[in-house]
Amino acid sequence: MKTEVLVIGAGPAGSTAAMGLARDHDVVLLEEHPRPGSPIQCAGLVTPRGVPAFASDSVINRVRRARIHSPLGYTLALEAKGTRAFVVDRARFDMMLFERAVDQGASAMSGAKAVSVGQGDDGVAVSVESGDGLAEVSCAVAIGCDGYRSATRKATGLPPAKHMLTGIQADLVGVELDPESVELYLGSKVAPGFFAWAIPAGETARVGLCTWDAEHAPAVYLKKLLARPEFAKAKRVSSSSGMIPLGPGRTARSGRILLAGDAACHAKPLSGGGVYTGIRGAEFCVECARSFLGTGEEAALERYDPLWKEAFGKELTNAFRLRKVYVSLSDKKMDKALRVFSEPSLLALVQDKADIDYPASLTTQVLKLAPKLAQFSPELIESFLK
Ligand SMILES: Cc1cc2nc3c(=O)[nH]c(=O)nc-3n(C[C@H](O)[C@H](O)[C@H](O)COP(=O)(O)OP(=O)(O)OC[C@H]3O[C@@H](n4cnc5c(N)ncnc54)[C@H](O)[C@@H]3O)c2cc1C
Repeated sequence: MKTEVLVIGAGPAGSTAAMGLARDHDVVLLEEHPRPGSPIQCAGLVTPRGVPAFASDSVINRVRRARIHSPLGYTLALEAKGTRAFVVDRARFDMMLFERAVDQGASAMSGAKAVSVGQGDDGVAVSVESGDGLAEVSCAVAIGCDGYRSATRKATGLPPAKHMLTGIQADLVGVELDPESVELYLGSKVAPGFFAWAIPAGETARVGLCTWDAEHAPAVYLKKLLARPEFAKAKRVSSSSGMIPLGPGRTARSGRILLAGDAACHAKPLSGGGVYTGIRGAEFCVECARSFLGTGEEAALERYDPLWKEAFGKELTNAFRLRKVYVSLSDKKMDKALRVFSEPSLLALVQDKADIDYPASLTTQVLKLAPKLAQFSPELIESFLK
């Protein structure tokens, strides 16, 4: 089979790329599972800018508060004036994006897995395994949106993620959470290398965590988290698990292959969120692929890296540097650092200005207000203040 564009993976990034190109070009959208959005591997917390208006029916809650629990028992409470994040039904969200891509004219191949990806002078050839056996799809340009295990990324020879988080989550009923607040739990005994969360999602609470470089499997930490008094009487209705690749590389392109979303390691290093950057990156893929298909000039595809770097790449790089400081902190230092944020001027800055998609952009202002944070990593702090 021949097509102009092959999009591999129908998550938020893949469906966005397919819907943007399908009106004017032949687009095949490949998804290994029979149904996009399933199994779910997400807490569903997405900023309003990450939810396209046509998918607003997938929003089940809005949050504007956060309570951050330190490893030593201190709680920092943050409250914004308006909604800071939506809680979405991720299965529905993914399905709405997928259906939009199909409505725009993309040919969907579900239950079809890319098993090998090869690149020649005049395009990309992908072997696809489905119930009908093995078939080859060739295309002028391929957009790899196949998530954290990306076969497309492997085929490009780009290095793997710098840090790979392992996540686990349980959906609970019978938990009383503030419907407008997320709870975050920090500490080496709670979620080493990341944090744990409890998110109010309508009828259920999503309680989960990610770990990195941890002594035990995530399930061990989840069991301990669920033993906390606030979850003790809850009933688990479902569970999910997955991984999050962190640390953007120097490029998300190789010849005629563009990578977006988790395949490009574009998840946010401080929160693990990857829906917004996945969608934004896919929109840039659309722009570059459209221009390439119109002109035949490969230089059009070279524009992809500068575009995503300008929009969110600098933020990801700085956030990854901050993450390195975060994972180096002992529980005692983490507690101490969190307490610094209770100072009124700093608290006001964070509550008014912090943007979940661009948290690192506030670093210089935070450090100017609280120079004592320099004690946690003098070299890093100096580099941000230059
Ligand atoms: C526990 C957990 C909680 C999270 N919470 C949040 C959150 O609250 N907010 C947020 O923004 N992000 C969150 N994330 C991250 C988020 O889920 C991802 O960053 C996001 O889904 C990335 O979108 P994507 O389209 O790049 O990849 P995916 O959503 O992973 O989609 C990739 C698609 O490609 C398909 N695929 C894979 N390989 C192949 C193949 N070889 N052939 C064909 N199809 C293939 C997959 O089946 C999948 O449908 C969380 C992740 C985890 C693990």
